[in-house]
Amino acid sequence: MAEKILITPKSFKNYKENAHKLLQEHGYEIIENNFGRTLTEEEIIEIAQDNVVGIIIGVDPLPANVLNQCKSLRAISKYGVGMDNIDLKRAAELGILVKNAVGTNSISVAEHAIGLMFASARHLPTVAAGTKAYGWERSIGFELTNKKLGLIGGGQIGKEVAKRAVGLGMKVTIYDPFFNDHEFLEKYGIQIEQDLTDVLKESDIISLHLPVTEQTKGLINEETLKLMKPTAILINTSRGELVDERALYDALVNNEIAVAAQDVYSSEPPKHGDPLVALPNFILTPHIGAFTQEAVERMAMVSTENLIELLAQREVVK
Ligand code: NAD
Repeated sequence: MAEKILITPKSFKNYKENAHKLLQEHGYEIIENNFGRTLTEEEIIEIAQDNVVGIIIGVDPLPANVLNQCKSLRAISKYGVGMDNIDLKRAAELGILVKNAVGTNSISVAEHAIGLMFASARHLPTVAAGTKAYGWERSIGFELTNKKLGLIGGGQIGKEVAKRAVGLGMKVTIYDPFFNDHEFLEKYGIQIEQDLTDVLKESDIISLHLPVTEQTKGLINEETLKLMKPTAILINTSRGELVDERALYDALVNNEIAVAAQDVYSSEPPKHGDPLVALPNFILTPHIGAFTQEAVERMAMVSTENLIELLAQREVVK
């Protein structure tokens, strides 16, 4: 029986031609996600019984109980960067190789983060909706030039945001305990700050570009929100779990910060009637950071190449 590859991301379909060709040349049969949405744990388990040796995964869940039941699975290739939907520890224990598509979507996410900064500074969602409804309500905004931008996380995406922000004349500081690219800091005139508290206190705009882990979950909470300026803008294009959304709701209602703009959420889409979503100073986009033609094309090809490479490594290990 031919070995099979399950491909779950919906947007993969738009650029599948070359990727499918490559997989077929290597003798693999392809199972596409025909549900038109993220797969459930049960669906993944059921499909995987059909001799699935590799998965190209989007944001669909791969916790330990799913991995345990995917008996033929040898490799997982992440279509994108964030691997928080995969139990990496269990995968390693089971000998399942995992790799992500590093850097394929950094520019797209960085551009979206910058877009959210402009949207927040000029109240774009509210004024655009008002004008479309034949209103002429002009709320006063502010310039990004000369404002202090605090980046929490200075990896692939954080650096792309930093470069663009410097180009806009912003004063950029990075907080990232693992950052070591000093050449980059010098080249772009960017500060590195060792103390998160100082970055939160001093920044006009705070943008999150770090992974969600046990240590970073709820990094933005009641306590850290209180450190921010009442005029501060919080941008989150990373992961919903980095922010305690109850605390964010309180901070926005009580004007402890001015605006929050997120591309990600603890539940995607958010639950109907969620009070945070209804707030006028809360901007939310539907996880479109990496959703550009360029990034999707790169993610499709790189995740396919990565999977083939991982499966070839498995052959060597055998
Ligand atoms: P990356 O691994 O290149 O960079 C992450 C950086 O975070 C690293 O430099 C790391 O040292 C730093 N970091 C780790 N722990 C930290 C901490 N406690 N405090 C401060 N910094 C810390 O990853 P990336 O490609 O830049 O991605 C960043 C985030 O963006 C991830 O959470 C990813 O899931 C998310 N993302 C979102 C989208 C989207 O569509 N919105 C797309 C791609 C990635």
